[in-house]
Amino acid sequence: MQYGYKCEDCEVAIFPTTTRTELAWLKDRIHVVREVAKHSGTGLDSWMMDGLEFLNDHQGHSIVLVSRR
Ligand SMILES: [Zn+2]
Repeated sequence: MQYGYKCEDCEVAIFPTTTRTELAWLKDRIHVVREVAKHSGTGLDSWMMDGLEFLNDHQGHSIVLVSRR
């Protein structure tokens, strides 16, 4: 099972290589992670960078956690 984010407004989804727990964590703490990324630039895991980019691209949209086999 893979987990990812889906934007219900744009009907697009991504499935970074990580767990559902991690994705939920990032989504809940997006404001904190965004600040950390701004100051550190590197050092974030690639799934986190991908997730962050997606969440940034879809700010204000309806993002849900989804799964696929
Ligand atoms: Zn969107």
